[in-house]
Amino acid sequence: ETEINKPHVSVLSSPGMGHIIPLLELAKCLVIDHGIHVSFLNITTEASTAQIQLLHSPTLPLGLDVIDIPAVDISALVSHDTPIVARLSINVEESLKPLKSILIELGKPQALFIDLFCTQAFDVCKELSIPTFTFFTPSTSFLAFCLYLPTLDREVECEFIDLPEPVQVPGCSPVRTEDLLDQVRNRKIDEYKWFLFHISRLPMSDGILLNSWEDFEPTSLKAIRGHPFYKQIPTPPVFPAGLLIKHNKPELDDECLAWLDKQPSNSVLFVALGSGGTLSAAQLTELAWGLELSQQRFILVARKPTDASASATFFNVGEDINVNDPNSYLPDGFLERTKEVGLVVPTWAPQVSVLQHPSTGAFLSHCGWNSTLESMTHGVPMIAWPLYAEQRMNATMLVEEVGVAVKPVGIPGKGVVDREEIEKVVRLVLEGEEGNMMRRKARELKVSAVKAFEFGGSPHESLSSVIKEWKIENEISV
Ligand code: UDP
Repeated sequence: ETEINKPHVSVLSSPGMGHIIPLLELAKCLVIDHGIHVSFLNITTEASTAQIQLLHSPTLPLGLDVIDIPAVDISALVSHDTPIVARLSINVEESLKPLKSILIELGKPQALFIDLFCTQAFDVCKELSIPTFTFFTPSTSFLAFCLYLPTLDREVECEFIDLPEPVQVPGCSPVRTEDLLDQVRNRKIDEYKWFLFHISRLPMSDGILLNSWEDFEPTSLKAIRGHPFYKQIPTPPVFPAGLLIKHNKPELDDECLAWLDKQPSNSVLFVALGSGGTLSAAQLTELAWGLELSQQRFILVARKPTDASASATFFNVGEDINVNDPNSYLPDGFLERTKEVGLVVPTWAPQVSVLQHPSTGAFLSHCGWNSTLESMTHGVPMIAWPLYAEQRMNATMLVEEVGVAVKPVGIPGKGVVDREEIEKVVRLVLEGEEGNMMRRKARELKVSAVKAFEFGGSPHESLSSVIKEWKIENEISV
């Protein structure tokens, strides 16, 4: 079959590795498993080296075309302290102005798949009669929360963080106010308005694909499908499209993997805070000391600390691998003293390959949803270190509901976790019986994930049903 005869869809991702990675995985699944021709629309920003490598990698399958939407100048619309969702949304809004002509030029793809922050695309697609599916990349419990938020917004006058009780999301676990994401902690600012804008538009989707599987989040999935609240919205059909997470081939000459090969099994703590995470200088110092005091093996993905924001590298602000010298910001002599047990890599590590390596025993993570899925599908327990977005909700779920993570306690009022506490949790997860129990739980989940992912298992079927849906809408024979 030539590309011309194949069904053709587009996938549109908002900027940032945390969005691009899962959307690109979806695109690959559509191409490889379903024989579809995919145009991947990439909203260009000042992209990181990792992002350029990912999107222009020679290993992308045939039939997956990456199309760069030209970068826009948003400097007049944002300032250096514009929060992340507002900045992202403004960038998307401006970048998508030519979307209609791009889609027409592509010959009107038969469907468009977008992520949560590209909902401006709904209007254009409606005009062009292109069915549009949202790939909701965070957790299913977070989707339930999002679908409920417009109602909460109408019914509650005060700030949500001042509510006396946890937020009762219909059919799901209550959300503690301290776990609420940054975007809903101040209803007066644009950050909240943009967030509410996108999630209020979610029901305009022809279907919502979920980055999860049935056994991982059964309660929220059941609620979204069956609870009267979600029915009356009405909520579009949801598809747990499963493990659309990176299955990259281990890099052959990677420093981390070569180092891991020489370590005993389950002995190494992998420390990485997603694509955007950064710590304050004080916190990074405590973390380094905590690792050293624990005397456990570790790989630390090191980023220059900053007191400005917990997600400073999201747009690669000031982040350049060539000028990232961990010696300049880690405690004096740290690298020398820990060189027998630790490996420090600046900026970026091949996370999935590290997590699937048998020497990796635990993961200190900011609990971004991709990182969470990657850890669970490789049976690795976590130290939960939530930083931004919905990560506090993810962390609470992993610690309290799933039992695969431990969360260190911060110094009240200071927002810093001290070195003794870090030493304690690192030992607990790598050496302690509690760590073993969490590892067993994580492995059970891994097994259920593998089962779900097998050909014919639910995620594959889910994706097939979505495809069927739009094929029927387009009267294309299946
Ligand atoms: N990642 C990686 N190497 C790193 C840091 C992150 O490969 O050093 C990848 C990680 O595997 C995951 C993604 O970047 O797929 C981060 O997504 P996540 O949802 O965890 O966090 P976000 O970056 O959106 O905050």
